[in-house]
Amino acid sequence: MELKNIKKIQDLDLKNKTVLVRVDYNVPLENGVVSNNKRITATEKTIKYLLDNNCKIVLMAHLGRPKGKVNPEFSLKPVAPEVEKIFGVKVHFASDCIGKPAQDAIKAAKNKEIVLLENLRFHPEEEANDANFAKELAKNGEVFVQEAFGTVHRAHASTSAIAKLLPGGIGFLVQKEVEFLGDALANPKRPFAAVIGGAKVSDKIMVLNTLIDKVNVLVIGGGMAYTFLKAQGFTTGKSLMEADKIEEAKAVLAKAKSKGVEILLPVDNVCSTEFSNDTPVMTTKDANVPDGQMGLDIGPKTIELFDKKLLECKTIFWNGPVGAFEMSNFEKGSFAIAKTMAAATKKGAVTIIGGGDSLNVLKKAKMKTSEMSHCSTGGGASMEFVEGQELPGLVALAK
Ligand code: AMP
Repeated sequence: MELKNIKKIQDLDLKNKTVLVRVDYNVPLENGVVSNNKRITATEKTIKYLLDNNCKIVLMAHLGRPKGKVNPEFSLKPVAPEVEKIFGVKVHFASDCIGKPAQDAIKAAKNKEIVLLENLRFHPEEEANDANFAKELAKNGEVFVQEAFGTVHRAHASTSAIAKLLPGGIGFLVQKEVEFLGDALANPKRPFAAVIGGAKVSDKIMVLNTLIDKVNVLVIGGGMAYTFLKAQGFTTGKSLMEADKIEEAKAVLAKAKSKGVEILLPVDNVCSTEFSNDTPVMTTKDANVPDGQMGLDIGPKTIELFDKKLLECKTIFWNGPVGAFEMSNFEKGSFAIAKTMAAATKKGAVTIIGGGDSLNVLKKAKMKTSEMSHCSTGGGASMEFVEGQELPGLVALAK
């Protein structure tokens, strides 16, 4: 997608102004306290830039899925003290994102202070991209900054309709996302490998088809690998296998062949009889999964094969675990991918994690996001970006 026509925060006239910033503070809460503040710290550069420019910052965000109804369980109020702690300035909380509560909080705040507005999704108009609701939101600021990469693939009032009403641009986090994901695909250092895992082929078919035009090596693991193995004539037992996707898998394999893209699939599997951590585990001697067994992770020979190939690559993009890593019996393969990528980063390769569950792998393996060149903060958004889809939250800002 064309990004040339989108202004960056550095291009905006915002000195001393009230700046309305869409952030992705959809953070986990435990007993009313933020248990992981990564999404807040990820916006630090933008918030500091605005404070340095003597702005009054008005943050709008969503939390969870309150489905258009006020629900205290999804209130952003507990997030305010965390924002205050991280940025070291006073944070005023507004009990509604529009109307008098918002206006009063904004009036009470001074420049170099922050107002956090209540959950946007308490209003059904937010997800409906309602123009009147966007008008109400726009009353909360003079300039709009899009800093919520995790929601740019949604056409919502706070990401799309609002961009037509105020001068606006993208913050530093969105810029970094777009540069990494964009550059990796447009000008990758080669060889370029993509590792695609996860449960279903149907969720990843678009990204596979796009990546095949870009990569030198395509590594396929996870539940989706079994449809590909079936397409190649292997047995898949009780594994997650989408019979109606075999033809599409065959087409991907044929396209790869015609383009000279190397495809790596599991050559052995860690299996069990059930999708459970409590049933006996066995490792197959080859890619075939016997009757009654379910492939739940890549086996040791596959780990070795993937590791060797990936360490030859200069760019690696990863989305989706290569096993049911939530269960300790089936975490080894996904942990190995994460470790190999960290080793590749050290060797100078550009390593990118495309958000979502792969980041949970990193967390479970007690690894740091800093061990990769870039970890996207938007799962769905990064996949749609890689697929080459137009992202409404960016399109709206293109003038
Ligand atoms: P996705 O959201 O499509 O990236 O899928 C992630 C999910 O795929 C995780 O919850 C994994 O447990 C699951 N997964 C990965 N490998 C397998 C497998 N071999 N069988 C079943 N589920 C799997």
